[in-house]
Amino acid sequence: MVFRTLILKVSGLPVIRNFVRNSKLVRPVVGRFIAGERLSQAMSTAESLADEGFLVSLDLLGENVASVEEAALAADAYIEVIEAIAKSHHCEKINISIKLTALGLDQGDEIAEANYRRLLEAAKPHSIFIRADMEGSPYTERTVEMVEKVHRDFPGLTGTVLQTYLYRTRDDLDRLVGQNIRLRWVKGAYLEPETVAFQDKAKVDEDYLELGKRLLVRARYPAIASHDEAIITQLKEFAESRDIPKHLFEWQMLYGIRRDLQGLLKEEGYNVRVYVPYGDAWYPYFSRRLAERPANVLFILRSLFKK
Ligand SMILES: Cc1cc2nc3c(=O)[nH]c(=O)nc-3n(C[C@H](O)[C@H](O)[C@H](O)COP(=O)(O)OP(=O)(O)OC[C@H]3O[C@@H](n4cnc5c(N)ncnc54)[C@H](O)[C@@H]3O)c2cc1C
Repeated sequence: MVFRTLILKVSGLPVIRNFVRNSKLVRPVVGRFIAGERLSQAMSTAESLADEGFLVSLDLLGENVASVEEAALAADAYIEVIEAIAKSHHCEKINISIKLTALGLDQGDEIAEANYRRLLEAAKPHSIFIRADMEGSPYTERTVEMVEKVHRDFPGLTGTVLQTYLYRTRDDLDRLVGQNIRLRWVKGAYLEPETVAFQDKAKVDEDYLELGKRLLVRARYPAIASHDEAIITQLKEFAESRDIPKHLFEWQMLYGIRRDLQGLLKEEGYNVRVYVPYGDAWYPYFSRRLAERPANVLFILRSLFKK
């Protein structure tokens, strides 16, 4: 946790941000986690993964916007993604993950909601599922409320994400499962204060396992999103012991992380969805991936010193 906090803080410094964004030496490392800057590159990655038997969620990178106009442009860009998926012969295997801050949450709930609904109108004829990613804790309640509200008009077509590290998550889990809203289950990737989130990784891992079991039993097609092999093994054993069929849930992992494990789970007959991020606004996503694993930072440092 100390390493994670340090990297998330350092990566927020303008001098570091500018260096990493502009350094040609860092690019190959960025390419491990991001499928390119253009939609055509992301679609080609998504279709190759689908050819191999994976499911995919496309994430057009980009978070908080500065104006209503930018939020509308972000919505247009997401609609372009939805249209590209609709044209793909793998349409039923590819869905989309979105950020409500990109759709204008900072400009007002009504702005973000109108844009979110616009995406769902575009996705509905093709049954393309839209998941609202969960961002930092200042947005949690507004995200949960908005997904609940919009889900009433688009049942089954949208869902969100719950983060184990937040104290409030146990209540949110019951609240959203009770409304049959599809959930992705993650440990949580943001820098959160102890007023809202557990700081102890062991506690987060323990709760991830315990509440993950609850989701497997009670939730509508839950997505267990983790690269933690020990926890995945225990959840697999749990699902088998309860005769929960493999098609009633899915594993999710990030593009470029634990490809070996992604392949193994797929070979065992599970649904495995790869989350494929792309776009030029890759810096915040990239920083969170670095913070999750010291080896990723070492990898960058090594590539800098090798040159
Ligand atoms: C599909 C998907 C969607 C997500 N959506 C959200 C979201 O909406 N909101 C949110 O807050 N978080 C999201 N996350 C991130 C999540 O909260 C965690 O930060 C991230 O998954 C790392 O936690 P972990 O469960 O893999 O376990 P950890 O205990 O962090 O890692 C377990 C093992 O996984 C491997 N690993 C983990 N991360 C990396 C990495 N970056 N590079 C290389 N190896 C790694 C390592 O082997 C590590 O030992 C998402 C994660 C996934 C997989």
